[in-house]
Amino acid sequence: MKRKRFLKTSILAGIGSQLQLNSELFKLFEFEDIKIENLLGLSQSHLKSEFILLEEDTFKAFSLMKSSALEDGITLKIVSGYRSFEQQKEIWEWKFKQLTKTKAPIQAISEIMTYSSIPGTSRHHWGTDIDLIDDSVIVPEGDLLLEKHYHGNAPFSKMKSWMEKNSSDFGFRLVYTRDDTRTGFNYEPWHYSYAPKAKLYLDLQSSEKYRKAWRNLEFKGKSYMTDSFMDSYFKNYGFGIHPSLMPS
Ligand SMILES: [Zn+2]
Repeated sequence: MKRKRFLKTSILAGIGSQLQLNSELFKLFEFEDIKIENLLGLSQSHLKSEFILLEEDTFKAFSLMKSSALEDGITLKIVSGYRSFEQQKEIWEWKFKQLTKTKAPIQAISEIMTYSSIPGTSRHHWGTDIDLIDDSVIVPEGDLLLEKHYHGNAPFSKMKSWMEKNSSDFGFRLVYTRDDTRTGFNYEPWHYSYAPKAKLYLDLQSSEKYRKAWRNLEFKGKSYMTDSFMDSYFKNYGFGIHPSLMPS
């Protein structure tokens, strides 16, 4: 018998229906479904395939939120959902190549980390995180994911206000908030995360098993990332998020 089923069966049989499964126990069950490969962007087994790849529960919650927003005249459009390790590596290495033309590698790395995650650590690998625009307005030309498009009279302001008011009802939270006390990545008014699932992924990212697996990945600039560099990265960048997304 699989360990997961064994646990469920023995707990339910042994303690009966009075048992209130606490959240720790639920976490244990959930954990067994998340593979380290899913955290590293090396497997798509956790995703639901639609127009944009998303983690299964995230997809369901997003569909509900999208319908609700549509009733208020807002067309939520995901411009970036799941991203593989290879895609993140491509983004990272392109920036690394450009910046190291004029800068020392460690300086280039710190500059890339203003907005981009180190390959294998991106929340976009999890399929729980999305970059959003409003497709019901005239979309600006050029780069869409800019702060100026989300505030004041800008095209995506209405969507931003709607999300501020309603997204948490569907489990979605802004990750990189405009908060001076927050460490890590810059403010990203477009990046939301499906909290119930993302918390589990983040928790697993702190495990020794995950850290060891990450060490085996290869990309440019990695030789500069010592263990203490990575400890500080996970603390300041990985946990530099809205408190509602922190593992309980
Ligand atoms: Zn994003």
